Amino acid sequence: MTEYIILIVVIAVLLLGVGGTMLLQRPRGMHGVRRSRAKELDLTGSMPKVDDKTSAGTITVPPPAPPEQGPAEPQAPPKPTLEKPPPSAGRMVRLRARLARSQSGFGSALLGLLSRDRLDDDTWDEIEEVLITADVGVTPARQITADLRTRVKVEGTRTPEEVRTMLRTELLTQVETEASRSLRTQRHEGRPAVVLVVGVNGTGKTTTCGKLARSLVGDGQTVVLGAADTFRAAAADQLETWGDRVGAKTVRSDKEGADPASVAFDAVSTGIEQEADVVLVDTAGRLHTKNDLMDELGKVKRVIEKRTAVDEVLLVLDATTGQNGLRQARVFAEVVDVTGIVLTKLDGTAKGGIVIAVQRELGVPVKLVGLGEGPDDLAPFDAATFVDAILG
Ligand code: GDP
Ligand code: GDP
Ligand code: MG
Repeated sequence: MTEYIILIVVIAVLLLGVGGTMLLQRPRGMHGVRRSRAKELDLTGSMPKVDDKTSAGTITVPPPAPPEQGPAEPQAPPKPTLEKPPPSAGRMVRLRARLARSQSGFGSALLGLLSRDRLDDDTWDEIEEVLITADVGVTPARQITADLRTRVKVEGTRTPEEVRTMLRTELLTQVETEASRSLRTQRHEGRPAVVLVVGVNGTGKTTTCGKLARSLVGDGQTVVLGAADTFRAAAADQLETWGDRVGAKTVRSDKEGADPASVAFDAVSTGIEQEADVVLVDTAGRLHTKNDLMDELGKVKRVIEKRTAVDEVLLVLDATTGQNGLRQARVFAEVVDVTGIVLTKLDGTAKGGIVIAVQRELGVPVKLVGLGEGPDDLAPFDAATFVDAILG
């Protein structure tokens, strides 16, 4: 009997081995489809170039090794391997626990206060205080408190469920916006989508470019990265490391202090030549005055626009920096037309109210949130998931 089981296990392992090998070939096949489609469009001149660069450049292992081959070869090779990142869909739900953990104070404090038998003036002041402490901003905090007060008056008795529903509805009203949160990363006829990533130094721009590149690759898109933060070579190295992991080419200058606009121009040109779906341009945030910033970012954008339109300007904001970060964000928004906000480090703060404050302040929706330092800890923002996480 045991011999049979061992035999079956051995056969299963062998089959998995064969399956694994086939899986290894698969991604090539998929690329092949892409290429042959490109051939029909007579774009053969540029497509194989991507290939040449890939194999001659920094990526040494040619076929992507999908995690599915795990059972056949349990030990992944230590050499750099192209990773297959997960798609973007459902990420916020997956990372919800992380959000709930950091937000718990704020949501449960509000629920607790609203569930008191008697809601007197002091209690309403406390409610407003909790909201302000959570970085919602003074004006929205007052408005939310006033709205809740009206609702309580109208609805009278409150079961715990009713309190929860009431608070949920109110917070959703504050977090929802009319503007679309979808990222404009769809390739246009004959040219890639271009995303410019801006923000203060240390907010997470480079990390966000890297994570976003992964997520786009996970969604089946091809990405070119532009290292337009040319202050330090290390910044370009950091971006390139992210790109290498998922097979996204990084366009950079090896000269420290090179013209960022020139790098951005080259990155977009490469994206056009290689028929990439998206070009992500990382920028520097170390500019001391608003005029410096305006000169540099303005120039980067203008020069990109010599080749193609900029589809998104994402402003990266560190959620842990509160009102100070908000002030800096305002300066950026005055300098460039921001189309979306990336709120990073939301895993490290109980002050999720900043989502409400920043959208209101800049009139631009939060499109992505950073929920950790892991490579796939970037999620498309979803208002309902966010509010549910706040309420625990
Ligand atoms: P202006 O600043 O808007 O007048 O634009 P310019 O035409 O003077 O270009 C400014 C910068 O953009 C240049 O210094 C280059 O860094 C960059 N640039 C413009 N055109 C090109 C180009 O064809 N190739 C590259 N690599 N960079 C360019
Ligand atoms: P940049 O100067 O704006 O390019 O910032 P970086 O991308 O270099 O990031 C600065 C630091 O913030 C790094 O240590 C990142 O790992 C960290 N970071 C970025 N996003 C997140 C996030 O969503 N959560 C956490 N916990 N850390 C983050
Ligand atoms: Mg950076």
